Amino acid sequence: MHMLVIEDEPALSLILKYHLELEGHQVEVAADGKTGLAKASEAGFDMVLLDLNLPGCDGTEILSALRLAAASTPTIVLSARSSLEDRLRCFDLGADDYMAKPFALRELSVRIKAISRRAQALPEPVLRCADLELNRVQRSVVRGGRRIELSAREYALVEYLIQHKGRCVPRTTLLRHVWNMPEQSGTNVVEVYVNYLRRKVDQGFGRPLIHTVRGEGYVIRELNSTRSAEDSGDSVPDVRWRGAAGRRVYPSAAECIA
Ligand code: CA
Repeated sequence: MHMLVIEDEPALSLILKYHLELEGHQVEVAADGKTGLAKASEAGFDMVLLDLNLPGCDGTEILSALRLAAASTPTIVLSARSSLEDRLRCFDLGADDYMAKPFALRELSVRIKAISRRAQALPEPVLRCADLELNRVQRSVVRGGRRIELSAREYALVEYLIQHKGRCVPRTTLLRHVWNMPEQSGTNVVEVYVNYLRRKVDQGFGRPLIHTVRGEGYVIRELNSTRSAEDSGDSVPDVRWRGAAGRRVYPSAAECIA
């Protein structure tokens, strides 16, 4: 799994990274709350391990922001706070598990496996973005009532984007998850397939759903724009950062057109 550890204690984050990598996971570490929230808001992580007492932004703010953004990445809270109130608050905010420090690494591993099994066991059968509907049981894609024929790779690509609807998916993440290729691959296969997908999913439907986030990746989301699909490529400006919690916000349709 691709895991994000948000932990400001260097010794602990090092131990966690070492332990999880030994178990075969790919691990990124964020040492403060704002960096952690920015990273967790990006698509591509399969699980987040979250400390609560963090510089810059409390862990509970990160949980709230992720759930407000409808992010469904499983999250385990690892905290020195051990009161019942703290645990209940985190579960209420959408945490999947809570371990009080100090904890045993072996127990953490078991809990990670259990949560991962649960997350994989219950995939949503139908995913939607505006009038685009992807049925994972039938492996069919329909937009505006019209069935769209996709190749297996195009289907995998749109499925990954729509699973992370509203969030920027870096090109490297797509390479890793859709093509199972290393991030450093000097290939433009992602760009080529996004173009294939745009022709089938966006062209002729008025409002484009697949957008380029320049220098970062791609996002599928509905903008209140009437621009043609052909305009939805590199003309979309860079992502902006706003809000006290540092949530990533994409430009409005008016800003895109400007
Ligand atoms: Ca801490």
